[in-house]
Amino acid sequence: MAPPNRDSIVVIGAGVIGLQVALTLLTESSAEKKPRVTIVASAFPGSFSPHYTSPWAGGQWRTHASRKTPEGCEQCDWDVQTYRYWKNLVASEKFKPPSRASGSGVAEFKSHFVWDEINDEIRPLQPGGPLGTGLWWKHEVDDFRILPNSERPSNTIFGVEWTSFCFNVPRYLQYLLAKVEEHGGRCVQLTLPTTAGLENAITVASGAVDGKVDLFINATGLAAGKVAGDSKVFPTRGQTVLVEGEAQMARTRKGDGYIAYTIPRPGSGTTVLGGCNEAGNWDEKIDESLHEKILERTKILAPELLDSNGSHTILSRQVGFRPSRQGGPRVEFENVSEKLVLHCYGHGGAGYQNSIGCSRKVLTVVEEVKRKSVIEAKL
Ligand SMILES: Cc1cc2nc3c(=O)[nH]c(=O)nc-3n(C[C@H](O)[C@H](O)[C@H](O)COP(=O)(O)OP(=O)(O)OC[C@H]3O[C@@H](n4cnc5c(N)ncnc54)[C@H](O)[C@@H]3O)c2cc1C
Repeated sequence: MAPPNRDSIVVIGAGVIGLQVALTLLTESSAEKKPRVTIVASAFPGSFSPHYTSPWAGGQWRTHASRKTPEGCEQCDWDVQTYRYWKNLVASEKFKPPSRASGSGVAEFKSHFVWDEINDEIRPLQPGGPLGTGLWWKHEVDDFRILPNSERPSNTIFGVEWTSFCFNVPRYLQYLLAKVEEHGGRCVQLTLPTTAGLENAITVASGAVDGKVDLFINATGLAAGKVAGDSKVFPTRGQTVLVEGEAQMARTRKGDGYIAYTIPRPGSGTTVLGGCNEAGNWDEKIDESLHEKILERTKILAPELLDSNGSHTILSRQVGFRPSRQGGPRVEFENVSEKLVLHCYGHGGAGYQNSIGCSRKVLTVVEEVKRKSVIEAKL
């Protein structure tokens, strides 16, 4: 039975971050602290807008986090936590019919990443040493190996294989939403004003719930630039193509000024082809020249997707904006006229793979602040 004096938390945003934060609060809080959770958002799974980023993800687990940053690497740990969580999730679903198409939409796939030239990620740690020695995550994933020349496309200099996770993005979002509701989370569709400041936005959000709100969590992704007045937030434009056929594995190739990838969408009989990372570009239109390049580059990566004429069967083309932030994601409290807001946004191109670790950080800091307020009340 739920404890009577449960805290009331409003999560603003129903992208992968808002949904996973809500789910973690509902399922991993200690029993006596389990809060009431309401998600307030303008867009929920099933809706599509270029500024609702989550539906446009590839998506796969392939960490971009770097241990070389002076302040250490919190995102590395978040990504590793998500990898392990998905591994258990997939194992738990494995024997439930109808196999990959059921449940969460997450599935295990072999993954290849190949490089055309040396960059910071694969540069030898010691001059003259072997490439790839600094790939910190090789010890965290299963079945990591360096690809021999014979298994890489020509004109590439280095490549790796590991067991990764790909997810059927629309299905995974629906799955998270269903889990939130199953665990008692409420959902309210509401667009909060963004031009009159954070205080005004949370005042409007509190109108969506009965009673006092103890904490607001700002998971508005790219909109956080306006909602929280954070000038460090910027879009990183991505453009993809959805084609018929499920690639046998996930493959990525990185070269001079470009990235190309093929990510199978488990259980859907489709694959996402990409892509680009265009910082600061807000253009919602398809770039036709980039579209042709994506098709050309990915033909070499996943020839199994081509028909007998050597062409793809294109199902859709899309643009999405990764919610990037200078300095990385912001998970931080702000006191707004006596109301407590925990910001959780700015996950850029890594929101899914960050999601489990980041949500657990949210849970930890929420429980910590609660513990402190209980101690202070007793003093
Ligand atoms: C092409 C592409 C490929 C990607 N591939 C991957 C991948 O393979 N792996 C990976 O980990 N990540 C990937 N990403 C990144 C990932 O998609 C994002 O990091 C993630 O979706 C961000 O989620 P979010 O919840 O922060 O934001 P969003 O999904 O944008 O959600 C924001 C939420 O806030 C709500 N909101 C905003 N403003 C308001 C308002 N004023 N009032 C009420 N509600 C509001 C919105 O309605 C929405 O519900 C990719 C992204 C792109 C574009």
